[in-house]
Amino acid sequence: MIPYGRQEITEDDIAAVVATLKSDFLTQGPAIPRFERALADYCGATHAVAVCNATAALHMACEALGLGPGDRLWTSPNTFVASANCGLYCGATVDFVDIDPRSYNMSVSALAARLEAAEAAGTLPKIVIPVHFAGQSCDMQAIHALGQRYGFRIIEDASHAVGGTYLDSRVGSCRYSDITVFSFHPVKIITTGEGGMALTNDPALAARMERFRSHGITRDPALMDGEADGPWYYQQVELGHNLRITDLQAALGCSQLDRLDDYIARRHAIRERYDAALASLPVITPFQSPEGRSALHLYPIQIDPARTDKGRREVFEALRATGIGVNVHYIPVHTQPWYRGLGFAPGDFPQAERYYAHAISLPMFPTLTEAQQAEVIAALGSALA
Ligand SMILES: *Cc1c(COP(=O)(O)O)cnc(C)c1O
Repeated sequence: MIPYGRQEITEDDIAAVVATLKSDFLTQGPAIPRFERALADYCGATHAVAVCNATAALHMACEALGLGPGDRLWTSPNTFVASANCGLYCGATVDFVDIDPRSYNMSVSALAARLEAAEAAGTLPKIVIPVHFAGQSCDMQAIHALGQRYGFRIIEDASHAVGGTYLDSRVGSCRYSDITVFSFHPVKIITTGEGGMALTNDPALAARMERFRSHGITRDPALMDGEADGPWYYQQVELGHNLRITDLQAALGCSQLDRLDDYIARRHAIRERYDAALASLPVITPFQSPEGRSALHLYPIQIDPARTDKGRREVFEALRATGIGVNVHYIPVHTQPWYRGLGFAPGDFPQAERYYAHAISLPMFPTLTEAQQAEVIAALGSALA
């Protein structure tokens, strides 16, 4: 089976993890701050807080921005459920903004229209989470301008997009947002097994996230209620969680980061071959924005209903039957039973639903060989014939 995504683990990665295993620290050692500093520097952000996964990073980011009961969080329906669940964890109300039919990212015009209506109704969101679907940045300049006008904060869900760029900056620079979140799950761009990170340029937000990551505990006398009893002393000043990543994982992350640019280049070479080979098939290939370079976590195509009678399910099953591990990204979040229970219904976000009805993600990972890719292309051709 050729999977839709997979990690690459090199001898250098193994050596880095083994060296940490033999060191004094399995967790809370030097590899975590090294990984944080390296990725913050790479992205051009000042602060980074590494945690056990991106879901935890999104939750921590919402908490740090003060999201709570009575507040509203808006995100894209074309995402993994975690982008929305983080709002529910904080007791906030979650809503969605439909996608742009070309980029599959949150539509800026839909966002502007919803904000205008919400302002009139007194229901403006506190946080908007744009999701850089498939690795391509949203139109952050426009979303940031709307944030300034309507007073919401911005968390970029860049789980797909580490290594990508937007205008003159790297995704993660937080030039147009408060916080950016990355995922290091094995199918993503670089991996730590499980892992995530939140980047910000705001030292106060970074400090709040660091406390939330570790039980809400501080050793900073300035934050304590009264005097420290002695050098051993710490205080729990708020209710946090244990969201920590281990040094073993951070050592793997540092080693993987060395290959990030190479990975993005390899993903683009694969995309170019797909784009060329699929041009003659009745499929819609993923639009590449000239405003930046996608990290290309995914290569999502749509089976074009205007040019073929073959349905998505038929094509999907034919590919799976020949050992091509295609997948679908994403089932619109608002159609999940949990969200239907909150009052959402099919039909609420028609662009996301229309895209989903035709979408298939083809294999896309840096070690996909030309021979494997040729197999995928031939199988897709037969499935559509
Ligand atoms: C993978 C993913 C997440 C969650 O990442 P984890 O590290 O698995 O918690 C969140 N948002 C999006 C868009 C993702 O693809």
